[in-house]
Amino acid sequence: GTLSIAAILAEAARRRPDAPALHFMGRTIAYGELWDQTRAYAGALAARGIGPGSRVAMLVPNVPDFPRVYYAALALGAVVVPIHLLFKAEEIAFVLQDAEADLLVAAAPLLAEAAPAALRAGVPLTTVLAPEGLDVGGAPVPRLEAEAAQAEPIARYASVNPLAAATILYTSGTTGTPKGAVGSHLAMIEQVHCALLDSFDVRPDDVLYGGLPFFHSFGQMAVLNIGFRRGASIILLPKFDPDEALNLLVKYQATLFTAVPTNFAQIVEAAKRSALRPPLRYAVSGGAALPVALLEAFERTFGAEVHEGYGLTETSPTASFNNVGEPIRPGTVGTSLWGVDVAVAESETEDRIVLLDEPGALGEVVVRGHNLMKGYLNRPDATAAAVIDGWFRTGDLGTVGADGVVTIVDRKKDMIIRNGYNVYPTEVEAVLARHPAVSIAAVFGVPHETHGQEVHAAVVPAEGADVDAAELVAYMKERVAAYKYPRAVHVVEALPLGPSGKVLKRELQQVYG
Ligand code: ATP
Repeated sequence: GTLSIAAILAEAARRRPDAPALHFMGRTIAYGELWDQTRAYAGALAARGIGPGSRVAMLVPNVPDFPRVYYAALALGAVVVPIHLLFKAEEIAFVLQDAEADLLVAAAPLLAEAAPAALRAGVPLTTVLAPEGLDVGGAPVPRLEAEAAQAEPIARYASVNPLAAATILYTSGTTGTPKGAVGSHLAMIEQVHCALLDSFDVRPDDVLYGGLPFFHSFGQMAVLNIGFRRGASIILLPKFDPDEALNLLVKYQATLFTAVPTNFAQIVEAAKRSALRPPLRYAVSGGAALPVALLEAFERTFGAEVHEGYGLTETSPTASFNNVGEPIRPGTVGTSLWGVDVAVAESETEDRIVLLDEPGALGEVVVRGHNLMKGYLNRPDATAAAVIDGWFRTGDLGTVGADGVVTIVDRKKDMIIRNGYNVYPTEVEAVLARHPAVSIAAVFGVPHETHGQEVHAAVVPAEGADVDAAELVAYMKERVAAYKYPRAVHVVEALPLGPSGKVLKRELQQVYG
């Protein structure tokens, strides 16, 4: 049989050609129009020799050209390799070489990094968002739009084996060298359908906030593919700015807000500067732990419930979710998606999976199901270490209750060991977030001569508030055990964030360690 992710756009265009698909810079693009543009781009890619199994790397922000290039490549049976927008030339070249890309499609504003990377990797380059006549080092820059005008649009998407690779997504590298997780058409479509049937509730007239980067699994699946599968529309925001986001949410009457916790903190602060409130039905948080105090602040401010989910790039990404229509359990990541098992295993046993089936046992979270990646590209050893007997080791610590509710305690590698006691930063961050002067906080360990590690916190003050570091240390000392409270509080304007909006604790450790 055949099953292609390209069907998500093609079917929406067939069923709802005049319905809005994208809102961008004051323009609305309908599904029919978007699919026509995508077929034209696919014609241009085909003219460059792209076909089944080719690899098309893309360095494109959340603009209409992202879905055009993405679905065009998929419609040809090619594999899409989206690259992190903040990557520098060397990192881009690494991905191009590792993924053996056949073509790089880059947004012109990113050419300063993209062009040398393509040259170094020996990969042909074409661009989107380039003004006519743009050149790099004297040579005119190829433009995909112009190539599409010369090419024959494809009539329909190619037949593909459902188990064939569809995307190679490089883990954002919050904690190390990026690895390419290979996702199949089947894994991604199953994820979309199972999420839509039982967990999310997306309707054709929904308007989704589209500020999560589409190069990352969370935005690509939970916003782009899930939104398009239902024929809903998406507000594109190429760069997150909380005030601008709030304006757009109101302008387009957004009904769903899907974001990472740092975005939740920022938009709650923006709402203190503005009376604008979009008609949100609910919100979705994922990608990192959402402090309960922040969930409550968002619900108070926007009058919409927040459904937290958990997942990873390797699990396409959602593994568990606080399902819409069921009571929310703040501080947990809900129950596993249909057809997905979330369990905990002994974290010390590396070569096999020893499941801990006693309800509430603390262990390493492991996941199995249709949503699992095919493996890490070119890394059989890393794949074999991560996937054992069909179970994927997430590197996260957590529990699964008797009712199946999953709680993520922290990443194994973020755990701080102070004087032999385990400190889970997520827990300390949740208490810090309750302080009225705190917008968001990150807790991390720094090396210490006698304690091994010491607990530090970086804190962003709430709108108009002053954080008194000594007072905050005293506040924490009263509320958590002596080995857990931060001995140093660093007041910062913003936390260092990765391209998907996650806090880069490594950078905090380098600065304060
Ligand atoms: P790395 O590059 O080290 O693999 P990453 O953050 O780049 O990390 P992703 O696939 O983007 O990799 O994110 C997956 C991780 O995000 C999970 O392993 C988990 O630590 C964290 N995470 C996702 N959702 C939640 C949540 N709801 N609560 C706590 N942590 C979460």
